[in-house]
Amino acid sequence: MNAPTSAKVLAPTVKLLINGQMVESQTTQWRDVVNPATQEVLARVPFATPQEVDAAVANAKQAFKTWKKTPIGARARIFLKLQQLIRENMKELAALLTAEQGKTLPDAEGDVFRGLEVVEHAANIGTLQLGELANNVANGVDTYSILQPLGVCAGITPFNFPAMIPLWMFPMAIATGNTFILKPSEQDPMVTMRLAELALEAGVPPGVLNVVHGGEDVVNAICDHPDIKAISFVGSTKVGTHVYNRASLAGKRVQCMMGAKNHAIVLPDANKEQTLNALAGAAFGAAGQRCMALSVAVLVGEAQKWIPDLVEKAKTLKVSGGTEPGTDVGPLVSCQALSRVEGLIDRGLAEGATLELDGRKPCIPGYSQGNFVGPTIFSGVQRGMSIYDQEIFGPVLCLVAAEDMDQAIEFINANPNGNGTAIFTQSGAAARKFQEDIDVGQVGINVPIPVPVPLFSFTGSRASKLGDLGPYGKQVVMFYTQTKTVTERWFDDDVTSHGVNTTISLK
Ligand code: NAD
Repeated sequence: MNAPTSAKVLAPTVKLLINGQMVESQTTQWRDVVNPATQEVLARVPFATPQEVDAAVANAKQAFKTWKKTPIGARARIFLKLQQLIRENMKELAALLTAEQGKTLPDAEGDVFRGLEVVEHAANIGTLQLGELANNVANGVDTYSILQPLGVCAGITPFNFPAMIPLWMFPMAIATGNTFILKPSEQDPMVTMRLAELALEAGVPPGVLNVVHGGEDVVNAICDHPDIKAISFVGSTKVGTHVYNRASLAGKRVQCMMGAKNHAIVLPDANKEQTLNALAGAAFGAAGQRCMALSVAVLVGEAQKWIPDLVEKAKTLKVSGGTEPGTDVGPLVSCQALSRVEGLIDRGLAEGATLELDGRKPCIPGYSQGNFVGPTIFSGVQRGMSIYDQEIFGPVLCLVAAEDMDQAIEFINANPNGNGTAIFTQSGAAARKFQEDIDVGQVGINVPIPVPVPLFSFTGSRASKLGDLGPYGKQVVMFYTQTKTVTERWFDDDVTSHGVNTTISLK
């Protein structure tokens, strides 16, 4: 918890959302929400009490009784309205996001936009939550399936996409007929709360969406709560594994999207300029704080000669406050994140990697207090080095050399993570081989950050994910519903009875 400051007395408080009301927490535990470019205290966020978590769940449980029976068209229209409100408030949402998280204004709009796509998808719930029917599965017998909501569901979100990831969760959970408890990141909860306000304005009824703030204790209370049926978590592997184990033990359905180490293979036949642009954008954009950031490039053969050009490209990126025009790389989210990333760069050097570009302690006019690291590039990176084995979550790109594509694929498949990967090549045959042989859930072919749109699902794999179903798209409809099958027969009064059937067969 942060030490009390005089600014703390003045900073506004972030509210809880319980039963349709924005309420002040009664907790004694508060944390500052800090602008990472300036250290200005923007707000104070409460760590909700156990009673407040219980109240949120009790209201959600009560609201479920009527919400689950609300016609599907009425549910869909709320998300039509919400997408309109998000569009109308896009600039304000992006500004709030930049202030508390640090990413540039255009990237903050991208954050909101990628969430907006899920809201648009939720507005199609009428066609997404359809069951199936098989006619005449036996004499006069039909079987059909219906997808019923589970009850109270919950979502726990990370700091790096405070608009997109909450919007991955509550729209689809609510559209499918569930009620929801959202626990945003305590580092940047303000834009999430603004989205919750817009959801109320769009017509989400009291108790259907609730928001509680906090850290470990609140997350554990959600994992343990007997009235919560399913949990969607996005965040680090350490916390996600804990949430998965604890909530699964408590009998819940759980999906966890977690940490990553995303590799790109660069073949020497790739379009050089496009590839260097893609690598720089995907490695250093959002200050490397994306779960799908490209943090390792495997340069095959002659492509190893591109390192000086890549360094020159990275040097052209502007590091500054996210509100400054033309900024490419904003600050890291916190002072702790800054010292962690700087510490890992130190270890990279100590462990023998070659520092091609050193982004530590950049001089940023007007932002002397900001948590900045500029683009940083290491070559000669190998397995066993901390900068390779750990997720850095900063603007640091590791370069690895490979003799051929087979060696590159083998190297990537040996990494435990499976969130995203990409190949840069002009060869269709090479791209197809990569798509077939790479053991990573989301593949880009000349696309550096292959995050699927919500017509599909987010499909990170292996150590980057626990649980079978992804957080949006078709898969999430299955996650937030229980399939019930109904087998029915209607008797005509004039049909002769077949007598008692003591076998398992339907006749
Ligand atoms: P985090 O794991 O620290 O926090 C995530 C959530 O867990 C937050 O709401 C936080 O309050 C809560 N939390 C933190 N410590 C906890 C504890 N000890 N016990 C219980 N709950 C706790 O993650 P972060 O730093 O906010 O986000 C960055 C991480 O998220 C990175 O590892 C990144 O790769 C990952 N991420 C993954 C995806 C994906 O789709 N795979 C997307 C975005 C971020």
